[in-house]
Amino acid sequence: MHEYPITEQIVRIAEESARNNNAEKVVAINLVVGELSGFIGDSIQMYFDIISKGTIVEGAQLNIRYIKPKLKCEKCDIYFTRPKFSFACPQCGANGVPTEIGKEFFVEDIEIALPST
Ligand SMILES: [Zn+2]
Repeated sequence: MHEYPITEQIVRIAEESARNNNAEKVVAINLVVGELSGFIGDSIQMYFDIISKGTIVEGAQLNIRYIKPKLKCEKCDIYFTRPKFSFACPQCGANGVPTEIGKEFFVEDIEIALPST
């Protein structure tokens, strides 16, 4: 449900970018979505198809790059993906603490097509 407003924003950003560059259409939108961001790619895609209909963004490819959450070891400062059922650092066994990695949500890149002259 909460993907709707964020998808509206994505379409708006893509529309603006297309307009500012005198593009004919938007070809692709590359999104970065952290697995802890709370946003679900399938929902974004579904809303995207509805919201982009009739706009310059309609039909654009939505590419989503998922980011796996990482913990940071308190002792040796390395970042690691959390093992199942554990927070232990694979290197020293100390506790890992949550980081911002995995909470990302942003538009990384927008690909547009310029009118052929
Ligand atoms: Zn460690």
